[in-house]
Amino acid sequence: MINKSYDDNNIFAKIIRKEAKAEVVFENQHVLCFNDIFPKAPVHVLIIPKAKFKDILDFSKNASTDQKNAIYVGIENIITKFNINSNGCRIITNHGKNGRQEVPHLHFHLLGGRDLGSMLT
Ligand code: 5GP
Repeated sequence: MINKSYDDNNIFAKIIRKEAKAEVVFENQHVLCFNDIFPKAPVHVLIIPKAKFKDILDFSKNASTDQKNAIYVGIENIITKFNINSNGCRIITNHGKNGRQEVPHLHFHLLGGRDLGSMLT
């Protein structure tokens, strides 16, 4: 399905098209994982679908099973690659205005490598 409200000029769309650089740590046909440019923890990786989904609701409604499963493949690979299973990590997606989503392409923040504190302060 073509999502007409998706902004093709957002920075993550440019990273997917290789028009902008990113430190890629894992990718496959459906998912791209790269380091956040302003890391909030020793491990701060963004996990994004390669297809055009603006947020978690768009993805939940419109993504294929393969596209959805690929997010879990990305998560598994990052946790394994950075050896953070024993101490744990946090996975967040910000949605819309109240969630303070800044980039209008669905992304999951995977944070780890230190005690992340309580979820909200
Ligand atoms: P949001 O608030 O939308 O959930 O988070 C967007 C995230 O994207 C922020 O953590 C921000 O640091 C990151 N980010 C913004 N621009 C770039 C970029 O050009 N490259 C990378 N690697 N990360 C970016």
